Amino acid sequence: MQQPVPRVRFPVRLNSPTDASPVSVRERSAAMPPMGRSTASQAARSRMVQRLAKQGIADARVLRAFDTVERHRFVDSAWVSQAYEDISLPIGLGQTISKPSVVARMIELLLQAPALMHPSGESLGRVLDIGTGCGYQAAVLACVAHEVYSIERLRVLHERARINLRPFRLANLHLLHGDGMAGYPKGAPYAGIIVAASGSSAPMAWIEQLAVGGRIVAPFGSAQDNQALVVIDKNITGVQQCILDAVRFVPLKSGIA
Ligand code: SAH
Repeated sequence: MQQPVPRVRFPVRLNSPTDASPVSVRERSAAMPPMGRSTASQAARSRMVQRLAKQGIADARVLRAFDTVERHRFVDSAWVSQAYEDISLPIGLGQTISKPSVVARMIELLLQAPALMHPSGESLGRVLDIGTGCGYQAAVLACVAHEVYSIERLRVLHERARINLRPFRLANLHLLHGDGMAGYPKGAPYAGIIVAASGSSAPMAWIEQLAVGGRIVAPFGSAQDNQALVVIDKNITGVQQCILDAVRFVPLKSGIA
């Protein structure tokens, strides 16, 4: 159930700028062979996509991206057999990869924003992905957006994501190590900002770095059992937010480690 809350004001957060610099996955992986495709994993992926469609995901671009990106390559070997189930899975350092239905819902919401299309008309413009984690969501985003900047505060996960993503050769995906609460001004303005960790409110930096007509999709709420998915649209007169589904995300934290 959508609850429109017009004209929300956001507190200004004082964040130090990140020292992140973009890293093209392609540059770092030129020597890698293209990813192999196993029939078994393709079948599991197809079943996942059918389930997502039944759950209400209707955007063909989203379904195609989920059919393409091999989720089992982003999880620890102990979890590979569960990679295509609709569950969140541990990715180390107390963090989790969100369940596919939540990732799909968030990306579909991003694609439904009022004025986000790249001039090609097919894909979303530039997107900021906050909380790279294992890199799975970033890879899916790279299939539906023209350019993706994905930022992670934990260096260990940032490096793991780089390794996970290398074989995909996604030239439009840039991995950053930094504090996503400050956004990433060098890539702004963004058509969309998508956040994989729950904070108490949207930092002013996100609103400032969002293009007019752009959309933020993020969970808000600090207690694990009191979070909601929120959509924030920026238009020429201000911002408007809609509170959507109840969700469960890891906390958004400031600073880098
Ligand atoms: N989309 C990810 C989900 C990872 S879980 C995936 O597909 O795996 C959320 C991630 O957000 C964690 O890795 C956590 O370290 C990161 N995070 C939390 N606060 C952050 C911040 N301020 N800036 C960047 N990343 C942050």
